[in-house]
Amino acid sequence: MPATPAWPPKSAPRLFVDLPLSDGVRVPLDGPQAHYLARVMRVAPGDAVILCDNRTGEWLASVVETGKRDVVLSVERQLRHREAVPDFWLCPALLKKDRFDMVLEKATELGVAAIHPVVTRRCVADKLNPDRARTIVTEAAEQCARTALPEVHEPVKLDTLLCDWPGDRLLFFADEEGGEPAAEAFAFAKFPERGEGLHKAALLVGPEGGFDDGEREAIRAIPQARPISLGPRILRGETAALAGTTLWMGLAGDWASD
Ligand code: SAM
Repeated sequence: MPATPAWPPKSAPRLFVDLPLSDGVRVPLDGPQAHYLARVMRVAPGDAVILCDNRTGEWLASVVETGKRDVVLSVERQLRHREAVPDFWLCPALLKKDRFDMVLEKATELGVAAIHPVVTRRCVADKLNPDRARTIVTEAAEQCARTALPEVHEPVKLDTLLCDWPGDRLLFFADEEGGEPAAEAFAFAKFPERGEGLHKAALLVGPEGGFDDGEREAIRAIPQARPISLGPRILRGETAALAGTTLWMGLAGDWASD
């Protein structure tokens, strides 16, 4: 006898929508989301679609009708609650567009809670298109089955970031000129009660040309800053951001056992 197929199927499209979801809610979609469902995925009435609202979690919905420019869905039941995300911020200096896009996408997949882009003296880029950034993280979250979107903040100058830095958050500063080996610093950060009692963490990474001496000094001057090394090679900014995030998730984030 053939096995009963899993429902919803693993291939069901996943979308974040901008309204609170609950049992029985009708969700009218238009624009790119309707185009994606109707033209790319070719959904038909009765087909399953998985919806997330970034508030309550993930829901199973079914297609009610499809038109030329819109699709209407009806929410059936909740599949998962919104996940708890490790309280880890990535603070990457802005990079050239393609490279920064990669940081946004991969940092979302790796599980960061927030991305705070930073503008430093040697940044080649100094702007970020907020709509484009939001689209990149949303599509990455849909693809990797996150139920919580990372916050993407407006770029801020390094001075402002440091001046406003919260007292209860460690600032791991990726310094290619040397620091504590990242693996040691992160493993220790998992047990704040044994050390400094700071539970929250962030990783600051420089741009293509690195930080200048004045910036390095200003970062080191804030009491929450911990210079770390990501090994003996000089990594590109995007590699350093993603390697550091990966290591933190493995040692102190939600990839690690308690
Ligand atoms: N200043 C460098 C130069 O031009 O030779 C390059 C900077 S690197 C491309 C960009 C950023 O990645 C650095 O500012 C630093 O934050 C981080 N980074 C790269 N390699 C690193 C390493 N081995 N350890 C710690 N951080 C590193």
